[in-house]
Amino acid sequence: MLVPMKDILLHAQKEGYAVVAANCNNEDTVRACIEAAEEQRSAIILNIGYGANSMQYDHRLGRLVGEHFEEVPKLMVFFGRICEKLAEDASIPVAINLDHGASFEHAIWAIRAGYTSIMIDRSMLPFEQNIAEVKELVKIAHAVNVSVEAELGHVGWGAQYEKDGTSHLTDPTEARQYVAQTGCDALAVAIGSAHGEYSGTPYIDFDRLKEIRNNVTVPLVLHGGSGTGKENLRRAAKEGICKVNIGTDLYKAGAKAWNDANCTFAGNGYQMIKEGYKRCLISYMEILGSCNRY
Ligand SMILES: [Zn+2]
Repeated sequence: MLVPMKDILLHAQKEGYAVVAANCNNEDTVRACIEAAEEQRSAIILNIGYGANSMQYDHRLGRLVGEHFEEVPKLMVFFGRICEKLAEDASIPVAINLDHGASFEHAIWAIRAGYTSIMIDRSMLPFEQNIAEVKELVKIAHAVNVSVEAELGHVGWGAQYEKDGTSHLTDPTEARQYVAQTGCDALAVAIGSAHGEYSGTPYIDFDRLKEIRNNVTVPLVLHGGSGTGKENLRRAAKEGICKVNIGTDLYKAGAKAWNDANCTFAGNGYQMIKEGYKRCLISYMEILGSCNRY
């Protein structure tokens, strides 16, 4: 069944586990997510991004700009229909989340496309402006029962991890003010994880997580789950993280399955990718404790 992301996260928060938000980029990966979740009796979040991480804030125009900015709504609506249909038919709760929603327009298009959650990433803006832009979208999203995830502090890229991996961590006191003023349903926190592959060893600041937990009542989100390590993730899920975004490892597992089987396009190549992705996803569900919850 298709549900607001908030419902999935509050259940996870109450029972002390985390749900995978799996990056999907086509029908096969969406089907892999739903099959894995149904087999494991777990909720799942379809995490759909449009390269918003690569967008820049243009201070002259006063908005975010990016290479594919104009094409995104079309893609979002088309892919949204596939996700929505498969989610509605599922026997476990499924949420569709716009990952790193860049612009005001993209967020509204995502709502129109049937997404049940939008992640509004204004983490690169000054604190007050971040609050103002998120607050506006929270009001709109909540009017149609769509959840909002926002980010405070900034989760960077693993490739730069050794240089500045822990330089923009979330301030627990600011987090309290931020959640109260924006009204967001979930908060993505920077506690030492990073997107993509890590250069160096990830260090998760569990003391900071605890402090944020003590300051904020909404479910917390960890971006950049791939390569963060089983023990770190298992502990994070027990200590207040309710959603973990996984992309890189799922796609790598899909590619590996393809390579290992010496697949051809004419043969069962796509099936192998899907199976590899799915096996990896199930291993993350087990780590985060989301199996057998529904
Ligand atoms: Zn992210």
